Amino acid sequence: MEKKHINTNCIQAGYTPKNGEPRVLPIYQSTTYKYDTSEEMAKLFDLEAEGYFYTRLQNPTNDAVAAKIAALEGGTAAMLTSSGQAANFFAIFNICSAGEHVVSSSAIYGGTFNLLNVTMRKMGIEVTFVEPDCTEEELENAFQENTKCVFAESISNPSMVVLDFDKFAAAAHRHGVPFIVDNTFPTPVNCRPFEWGADIVTHSTTKYMDGHATSVGGAIVESGKFDWMAHRDKFPGMTEPDESYHGLVYSEAFGEKAFITKATAQVMRDLGSIPSPHNAFLLNIGLETLFLRMKRHCENAQAVAEYLEKHEKVAWVEYPGLKSSKNYALAQKYMPNGTCGVISFGVKGGREAATVFMDSLKMAAIVTHVADARTCVLHPASTTHRQLSDVQLEEAGVSPDLVRLSVGLEYVDDIIADISQALDQI
Ligand SMILES: *Cc1c(COP(=O)(O)O)cnc(C)c1O
Repeated sequence: MEKKHINTNCIQAGYTPKNGEPRVLPIYQSTTYKYDTSEEMAKLFDLEAEGYFYTRLQNPTNDAVAAKIAALEGGTAAMLTSSGQAANFFAIFNICSAGEHVVSSSAIYGGTFNLLNVTMRKMGIEVTFVEPDCTEEELENAFQENTKCVFAESISNPSMVVLDFDKFAAAAHRHGVPFIVDNTFPTPVNCRPFEWGADIVTHSTTKYMDGHATSVGGAIVESGKFDWMAHRDKFPGMTEPDESYHGLVYSEAFGEKAFITKATAQVMRDLGSIPSPHNAFLLNIGLETLFLRMKRHCENAQAVAEYLEKHEKVAWVEYPGLKSSKNYALAQKYMPNGTCGVISFGVKGGREAATVFMDSLKMAAIVTHVADARTCVLHPASTTHRQLSDVQLEEAGVSPDLVRLSVGLEYVDDIIADISQALDQI
């Protein structure tokens, strides 16, 4: 296929109707598929023929949207999941079982931190967290004999740390394990982790990909480049016969789509967290404008960040597009066209002043969400991190005055006017 610009792929990839078929991707709201003979269906069950038999495993609407996301990331295959949480869990669990180990950056989304630190430990999967700015030696020391993958976020939510791809990818590959990157915040429009050494990419499509705050969802994408056979002993699930599939060997039978095929045939089959075809349809509409929207989110956020930085009532601003940001150099290297629309900042006067500021906003809404068309704010210290003392907050990297601002697509002067009048109330 001719290589197209990512803007074109946002609109066109994944679904190409044949003569007389619907121009818009249809919602196949059907659990089942009809066959003329049981012989034909048996071949599908054995993964010998391609086709649909049950929507938990495959559905034409979901598959078209997954194919679009694979094209955007430059991967070989993708699958949709019902949430970003399910995507991260499935991506890790596909190659990591009880008694094994994960190395993860500590600068990750709270839900993922909990998944690794609490729930996966209960399943017998251990994790070692490293600081995102750790030395190569510190990173090296985090690895164990039984380490099966390295995990990080391309831009961390909510701390806005830009990933040092080279450092993490090199360490993962020195140890013969894949590098999994959650690319939710920059989206493939601004950063394509496969170009920087990632092997598996995950998404919470709930955020910019959907873009309108309508549907919770996730995705996993495979680069097709990780050589499972070269690390045969480490990944028996990929390289040895699967008894639950008549002795099929994923890496041999499916090559550069082995990871996603196994995730579908085993993990999704047994744990079942698919999105509804209707949600996939809504996600696809969001994806059509992703390129346009990311550009505007970044322009607006840049202007707002520069405004905040100069404001006398603002104590500090963290936005990777600001020259003053400690993440600026990494952002310029890995996502030179922009990062995303999320800014974190602190107001002078700490927790109390932050609350006054937020309550005074007239247009920007207080919501537990980021990355959609409407500007919104969250004060972690009085909401998501409410149970922590000020000392504990600092330890968690969330200062009491931290406001997470997700800059939307409204006209930028109106966003700034709203922020300005709210800062005046402090
Ligand atoms: C929101 C988020 C998740 C979790 O996704 P859900 O769709 O809410 O399950 C995972 N990673 C990142 C970076 C996120 O922002």
